[in-house]
Amino acid sequence: MTSKKGRVFSGARPTGRQHIGNYFGAIRNYVKLQDDYDCIYCIVDLHALTTLDTTRDLRQNTLEMAWDWLAAGMDPKRSIIFVQSMVRQVTELHTILSMVTPLGKLTDLPTFKEKVRENPKNINYGLVGYPVLMSADIALYRADVVPVGIDQAPHVEFARETVRSFNFRYNTNALIEPKEKFTEFPKILGIDGVNKMSKSLNNDIELAATAEETTARVMQMVTDPARQRRSDPGNPDICNVFSLHKMFTPPEKVAEINIECRRAGIGCVDCKRILAANMNAYFAPLREKRRVFENDPEGTWDMLRDGAARASLLAEETMVDVRAAVGLPALQKG
Ligand code: ADP
Repeated sequence: MTSKKGRVFSGARPTGRQHIGNYFGAIRNYVKLQDDYDCIYCIVDLHALTTLDTTRDLRQNTLEMAWDWLAAGMDPKRSIIFVQSMVRQVTELHTILSMVTPLGKLTDLPTFKEKVRENPKNINYGLVGYPVLMSADIALYRADVVPVGIDQAPHVEFARETVRSFNFRYNTNALIEPKEKFTEFPKILGIDGVNKMSKSLNNDIELAATAEETTARVMQMVTDPARQRRSDPGNPDICNVFSLHKMFTPPEKVAEINIECRRAGIGCVDCKRILAANMNAYFAPLREKRRVFENDPEGTWDMLRDGAARASLLAEETMVDVRAAVGLPALQKG
């Protein structure tokens, strides 16, 4: 890798097909940053284990995610794309970092409390340590920039503090403090118009959905609740259909919808039809490209293994310094 403006790392759990929240909140940034940074993108399958009750679909979901990423323009020739569990040093750094992490800080995190609320019967040790593993991911590759959606910001801050604690405790600068980076759309709402778009809330629209599925999802979208009848004027400022138009519809048309909705010149059904058509046109090239990758799962695994081999070299460089800083024995003589 040549050194550009800095090093980017980001990861996401292999939850299967990606949705437009992932796309606008993260993936589009992943693609763009490839021009100016050395980028490392990771499918964090070990993180997925914290909440899965079965791992039956884990490998398939890893592929599904890789296909969305590749189809969106993440390029294994310019970036390192790999699977977390393929680089074993991350578990070693996770253990070492866990010793500089106060437990109370982990259990106080809003993201942890949310997970406990969602699934009170599955509060495993790994779930509590999720942000430590994420810190290890970022620190292992000495990334200074972490592109994420706004929901992940507390975890990047946590990683920054963990690195700082480690460097202070061992009087070293072996690890680099990372900083988050948002897109212009750090939080996309779901089709319910209220919550963050999320697969687990079933309020998402998948990038790889068919045109028909996409249209059906858009037609289910909740609009301005005060607009009960076609003749009622609407308020685009609080309507998620309108928010999404800004991503998919040409600005002149967005301006027109903005006016027409307020004076009931356009109804929600027509407004959604336009959105669905534009969304389908926007994602058509991505969907076509994805089909090529889908036909070659072995090629995808080879690409991910190749990425892991390149990532392992960077990881081992860091771990040599980390082991030395901690006072653990060196693996190599000399
Ligand atoms: P993870 O839990 O591994 O972060 P997610 O699938 O929830 O996996 O998210 C992957 C990336 O997409 C993260 O950077 C996250 O912040 C971003 N993201 C997820 N949902 C949204 C959303 N609705 N709006 C904006 N960004 C999102």
